[in-house]
Amino acid sequence: MILIKDITVLPFDGKDKVIAKTDVLIKGDRIEKIGKIDEKADRLIDGNGKVLMPGIVNAHTHIAMSLLRNYADDMPLHEWLNDAIWPIEGKMNAEDIYWGSMLTIAEMILSGTTTFLDMYDFMEETAKAVDQAGVRGVLTYGSIERPERTEKNIEKYRNFFKECDGMADGRVRVMIAPHAPYTCSDSYILRLKDLADELRTGINIHVSETQKEFDDSMTEYGKTPVQRLKDIGLFDTHTVAAHCVYLTDEDIDIIKEKNVYPVNNPTSNLKLASGFAPIKKMLAKGIPVALGTDGSSSNNNVNMFEEIHLAAILNKAVDKDATSVSAYEALKMATINGAKALGLDKEIGSIEVGKKADLILIDVDKPHFTPLNNVVSAIAYSAQGSDVDTVIVDGKLLMENRELKTIDIEDVMKNTNRIVEDLISRK
Ligand SMILES: [Zn+2]
Repeated sequence: MILIKDITVLPFDGKDKVIAKTDVLIKGDRIEKIGKIDEKADRLIDGNGKVLMPGIVNAHTHIAMSLLRNYADDMPLHEWLNDAIWPIEGKMNAEDIYWGSMLTIAEMILSGTTTFLDMYDFMEETAKAVDQAGVRGVLTYGSIERPERTEKNIEKYRNFFKECDGMADGRVRVMIAPHAPYTCSDSYILRLKDLADELRTGINIHVSETQKEFDDSMTEYGKTPVQRLKDIGLFDTHTVAAHCVYLTDEDIDIIKEKNVYPVNNPTSNLKLASGFAPIKKMLAKGIPVALGTDGSSSNNNVNMFEEIHLAAILNKAVDKDATSVSAYEALKMATINGAKALGLDKEIGSIEVGKKADLILIDVDKPHFTPLNNVVSAIAYSAQGSDVDTVIVDGKLLMENRELKTIDIEDVMKNTNRIVEDLISRK
């Protein structure tokens, strides 16, 4: 049992925005009680000067891409993928993915992310890293169509699901991921949808990220990417749609009607010069837009506080409306909306009795939080990832007073540097 005393809580439970000075009791992997608590616990955490919020959900990333951090920059998406990223990714092996995953998981814990939705390769290695590090991950093999490999791929994803979905006490979940509408044909996307339906899981896909993708889709199919995916029936299966930058008003109606879960990646969209997603319009329709970092090669970190900050300020300027995305909405995007996108909102994403104890404590006893006039604003506008002091997942401490409990970070960095040196020179 862990008892957190005298803490300010941002619960995102749909009721209170802020609960001032309360106690939270964790029993096993779940939140047992919130309120004045006098029980004895094995572990007491003093909440004075701290804010408790749900562990952050990074709803779109490629965590092992940290290996390519600062490797190819200042290029537009399609050139960046074709000329820089895909050639070196083709040389990666399982060991690379393991160390890249461990490195990013450490970085996520250090900046308050407890759950992520990933799309990459050698995903068994990422599952192993999630298991060892103690975080929560929804993992997908990113699938780019190669017609000669279709049957092999389907078998690989099915085996990955059977082997890894539910492992690590249920902290690893598996979905199916056609990479994007521009790298997969209709028939291939439908094969993957059928597989997701067979396995009773969801779809993770990039959608309408760039003007080029949108224009090419209009030329080739006479439809927007969203319209095309709707027409083939993809959205009848739970779908997480990363980016959704280029959307017509009709596309937004489809997303609402078909319960598609869009994920905004503001830093990646800025850095790859992709554009600005219509977040205000989607939120106004009640669409629970989630938030992600994308990979560390287009960001170049996984600090979700930067995304929260950007989501809250960027849209104000884009829409010329200071109420466009409020501090509170931006924090919801990073917590409960992310949990909804991942299909995990009954378990995580808010602080409520009975939910999993995936929690972070932020140290607000610092100059840049002083005076603490408004806690919600402080966390959205003033917080840095490095202000996260303590991280709990499934009721277990993964970081305390900024000390990682499950990862030997020196060893991870040493191994990452070693394998990246080899990867870059690999023929
Ligand atoms: Zn991506």
